[in-house]
Amino acid sequence: MRTRVAVLAGLMAIVLTPMSIGAWGMDVHRLITTRAISGLPPALKPYFTERSGFITEHSADPDLWRIVGLRGDLGDEDPNHFLDIDGLDDPRPFANVPRDWRAYVAKYGVERTNKSGRLPWRTEEIYRLLVARFQDVGKGQPYAAENAAYLSAVLAHYIEDAHQPFHAVASYDGQATNQRGIHARFETELVMRNRLTLKLTPVTIRPIANIKDFVFETIIESEALVATILAADRAATTGREFYDDAYYAAFLKGSRPVLERRLSESASAAASAIVAAWTEAGQPKMPVKVAPAPVRIRR
Ligand SMILES: [Zn+2]
Repeated sequence: MRTRVAVLAGLMAIVLTPMSIGAWGMDVHRLITTRAISGLPPALKPYFTERSGFITEHSADPDLWRIVGLRGDLGDEDPNHFLDIDGLDDPRPFANVPRDWRAYVAKYGVERTNKSGRLPWRTEEIYRLLVARFQDVGKGQPYAAENAAYLSAVLAHYIEDAHQPFHAVASYDGQATNQRGIHARFETELVMRNRLTLKLTPVTIRPIANIKDFVFETIIESEALVATILAADRAATTGREFYDDAYYAAFLKGSRPVLERRLSESASAAASAIVAAWTEAGQPKMPVKVAPAPVRIRR
């Protein structure tokens, strides 16, 4: 979920209901990450299963970093979670949006790129860190196994965000079509209401040659799915006064294929990205349990 939405949703939540919308968005990250871990290959699965509680929980962390105003090399945390690719003066298939970070900033300027987002580059940054920590595991470095687990959780988060269609468009909360709140209705409420009956396809691992290009392609796919979700929301609100059970049933009817597809692809992609990083690191043997190494007494 994005800060600007979270802040708005948070304010509305205080006014309208005691329920926290933000927490549900995080539950969806946890749900997808759990699924991703379940689909990892035998060489990785025991290591990840041993740490599944930790990884699943921390796959929501990047959304918390925005709250404390964390800053990284690329800038504030918030724009790390999206790329509004349809708002960059370039028509589909967005071939003229630079994929090189410096070229991107040079073309649009710092202020505009902070607004439009930088998810592909942030994902690449975390991916590189994960490759390095997997390499450390291969070298027997202390703490490398736990650091790799944490970075896997963080990488999963950004990969999952790229699959949420509203993380790919400038009208990220239905502002342009007067469908405000659609971001959370789709990514949290709709998922959590139907989580037991949604039919997701099994996790499949596919090679990822270039993580940044992969995220770009994922965002371009996401952008193309927004129209279907907006149409489903519009149809579901027609003749209704509230976002009630009947609304959500109608919304699900119109958006179910997109929702199931994106949740399924999200889990597969998170697992594939972890496998890709591990493969690039030389496929180190992952220790299921790490015995603490004896510490030498210094004299
Ligand atoms: Zn996020």
